[in-house]
Amino acid sequence: MVTVPHDVPTVRPEYDVSEDALDALPVAPALFRFACLDPNAARREGLYVRRVVRADGASCVQVILFYRVQWVPYHRNDFAPFFVYLDANDALTRIVYDVGHHRAATLLPHPDLCLTVVAPWHALRPGRTALARRLRATELRLTDDVVRAWWYEPRTEAQLKLRSKLVDPWHPGLQGIGREHGTFRDEAACPRCGRPALMDDMEVRGPDLVRPTRCPVGHPFVAAYRGQRMAVEGALT
Ligand SMILES: [Zn+2]
Repeated sequence: MVTVPHDVPTVRPEYDVSEDALDALPVAPALFRFACLDPNAARREGLYVRRVVRADGASCVQVILFYRVQWVPYHRNDFAPFFVYLDANDALTRIVYDVGHHRAATLLPHPDLCLTVVAPWHALRPGRTALARRLRATELRLTDDVVRAWWYEPRTEAQLKLRSKLVDPWHPGLQGIGREHGTFRDEAACPRCGRPALMDDMEVRGPDLVRPTRCPVGHPFVAAYRGQRMAVEGALT
């Protein structure tokens, strides 16, 4: 049994969190679904939302569409995140969404802005098809306790792997500069060569999460997400 550390922060201290609802925003993408069900509010499935505000007034509305079960392939807890970025005047600047396998794609402002949740594995796609139906989802608060329960989930496939980019939605790794996609996963620098390795589910050790891994050229090391410091670190084995 894992004890959830209730003092681990879920957002960097330089940001504020406000509780604006998604439908209260001046801009939000219309949401559709294709070949999957609506989330079941009775099972606390739905859109978990919080707004992270920067000192200059720019903000990011973090949304995690949560299902209790992914049927194909089967595992508990499935998360489809998207982040809505607004400038200090609440004008939309971009949306970053999970296109599948935690890869982050960017959608720029457009008059008919929509996202479709696709298939039993709940990937997000821009736009909608003729057969897509409007997604009906309850909005829930993405509180610290909700985030911590998902982070410290001992069943690995059920664990939320969105950590360093949840605490900092302006993390450059979400943009995928120089790559086709950014990533919602943590990136740990190899202590030998500095190349980044992408994290997956991790073993819970108190407030820390650890995972033995290899960098892209094969150096073995241990990656850690240090919960109290919100830092991703790599150490030689
Ligand atoms: Zn290396």
